[in-house]
Amino acid sequence: MNEYYPTDSLKSPRYSGIPTFMRLPVEDDPSKIDVAIVGIPFDSGVTYRPGARMAPRDIRVQSALIRPYNPVLKVDPFKLHRVADFGDIVANPFSIEDALQAIHRAISELLHSGVTPVIVGGDHTITLPTLRAMHEVYGPVAVVHFDAHLDTWDSYFGSRYTHGTWFRRAVDEGLVMTDRSYQIGLRGQVYSEEDFDFSLRNGFRMVTIEELKENRGAKGLVEQFQALGDTRVYVSFDIDCIDPAFAPGTGTPQIGGMDSFEAVQLIRGLKGLDIVGVDMVEVSPSYDSGGITSLLAANLLYEFLCVLPAKK
Ligand code: MN
Ligand code: MN
Repeated sequence: MNEYYPTDSLKSPRYSGIPTFMRLPVEDDPSKIDVAIVGIPFDSGVTYRPGARMAPRDIRVQSALIRPYNPVLKVDPFKLHRVADFGDIVANPFSIEDALQAIHRAISELLHSGVTPVIVGGDHTITLPTLRAMHEVYGPVAVVHFDAHLDTWDSYFGSRYTHGTWFRRAVDEGLVMTDRSYQIGLRGQVYSEEDFDFSLRNGFRMVTIEELKENRGAKGLVEQFQALGDTRVYVSFDIDCIDPAFAPGTGTPQIGGMDSFEAVQLIRGLKGLDIVGVDMVEVSPSYDSGGITSLLAANLLYEFLCVLPAKK
C-alpha cells in the first residue's frame, strides 16, 4: 500500500487529530503524489452572500467520515492514486487580479508535475485561472459545468472577473472546447431570454433541470458524457446545482435542483473519461445547516476521486 492513505478510523477516532481532507497526509511536494486535493479559500468574486472562503476548512472537518472503498464502482481511489491534502493556495482577498495570478501559478505547478488537481473552493471565480493553467499544459479542454447558473454574464458593477462571469472570460480567452462542453442543472430566473445567447452561440450543451428531471434523467446524460471519448475534460461543480434542501450552505441558492443521489449518479457517469482536473465551489458554511452541505461536498469529492483516470 502506498504511504498516502487516510488514517485508519478503526484505530484512530475520526474526530481526533488535525483535520485534513479525508484524513489524508499533508504533502507539499507535487513530485510525490498523483492527485492533490487543494483548497482555494477565496470568495472576493461573489455577487451575493459571501462565505465560500471558509469552505476548505469546513469540508476538511466533514470529510473525516469518508471511508476508502467504493462498493458500487469497486474501487479504492487511495490505492489507485497517491492522493494527499496539498494545503491551501493563498489568494489575496483584496485583489482579484493578484488572486487570479496566484491560483494560475499554483495550479500550473501541479500540472507541470503531472499532478491532477482536485480543487476545493472558494467561489466560482477560481475556475478561470485554473482553466488558464489547464490551457497552458493541454490546450483547450471540454468543460462539464454543473451549476444552477450560466456564469456567462459579462460584468457586475463594471467588474469582468467575478463568480458569474468566469465562463464567458474562459471562452473569450480560448480556453474551452465550446462544442464539447456541458452546462448541467440550469434553472430559475435569469435577467432576460438573451442571457442564453452566449451559450447558444458557442454551442454549449445546456441541460436544464427540466430536461434532467422530466425527460431522460441522469442515465440519458451519462450516455452522452461517454461520447466525449478521449477528449480532455475539466469538471467544475458549483454546489448550487443541487437543491437547497440538500445543499443550503451556498451563496446564491436556487430552488428546484437535483438531489444528492442524482449528483452521485452523474459523477459516476464520468468514469472512463480523461478528466484532467475537478473543482467543487460555492460551498458557504455559514449558511449551512448541521454541516450537510460540506458533508455532501466531501462525498462528491470522494466520488470524483473514484472516477479519475489512473496515471500511466
Ligand atoms: Mn451557481
Ligand atoms: Mn457558478
